[in-house]
Amino acid sequence: MLAVASWAQAQSLTLTLASGVARQGDVVAVRVTVPRDATGVTVHAFQTTWLAYQEDATTWHALVGIDLDRRPGTYDVAAAVASPAASASRPLTIVARRFRTRTLTVAPDYVNPSPELMARITADAAFLTAAYARSTDTPAWSDGFIRPVPGPANSSFGTRSVFNGEKRNPHAGTDFLSGTGTPIHAPAGGRIVAARELFFTGNTVIIDHGLGVSSMLAHLSRLDVREGDTVDTGMIVGLVGATGRVTGPHLHWALRIGDARVDPLSALALAQGHR
Ligand SMILES: [Zn+2]
Repeated sequence: MLAVASWAQAQSLTLTLASGVARQGDVVAVRVTVPRDATGVTVHAFQTTWLAYQEDATTWHALVGIDLDRRPGTYDVAAAVASPAASASRPLTIVARRFRTRTLTVAPDYVNPSPELMARITADAAFLTAAYARSTDTPAWSDGFIRPVPGPANSSFGTRSVFNGEKRNPHAGTDFLSGTGTPIHAPAGGRIVAARELFFTGNTVIIDHGLGVSSMLAHLSRLDVREGDTVDTGMIVGLVGATGRVTGPHLHWALRIGDARVDPLSALALAQGHR
């Protein structure tokens, strides 16, 4: 009996979610156990493929991001292997999160830019699209994420912002309240795909952590890395500042998984033992 049971176990595909319930903006760790020598493991949810990496002969991991605007409800998370063909799925319930509205006053150019500034903003957007598009195959986040600055985070993620009386996109990052000049540590390793000044985010570093996961660190007073550099978790990439569309010095950390805008604090909560 035991031999039969373990043979069945060895042939089956299992999908484990760190939690069956997640909030808008959460990061959900997924573990897939596959038959030995299975190839082509993929994870699917929300009509999107989430890239997985192999830990050992039978274990794969992926992160699924719940975009801050994902509609609450119950969805299927599925895993499949190409050979030998097998699939499994688990339900994931997304619950609504209450986002604040904040009203800010900034220089008028940041709200209703002139045509010259619009050209710059358009060029920045094209640069960002290209920077986010090329993610490497190596998951530099497999050991988790660390806090980039010691200062506390406020509850700014997902906030609906009204700038000078006009609604703008939701705030897709978390703000850490650290003073100008505070060193910023890479929350995970990876390749620097942006290290330059952009109109809204000021001096900006984007780290491609691999498999579609990336961090934007914004409003820096100083950039200490260059595009094309590779960094390890914890390396200093620059200093906190107040460049771009801000009302004071802080670090804005925005984390993306594929196209999902997720809360970095949710990724920090994974750090201990998402395996
Ligand atoms: Zn921010």
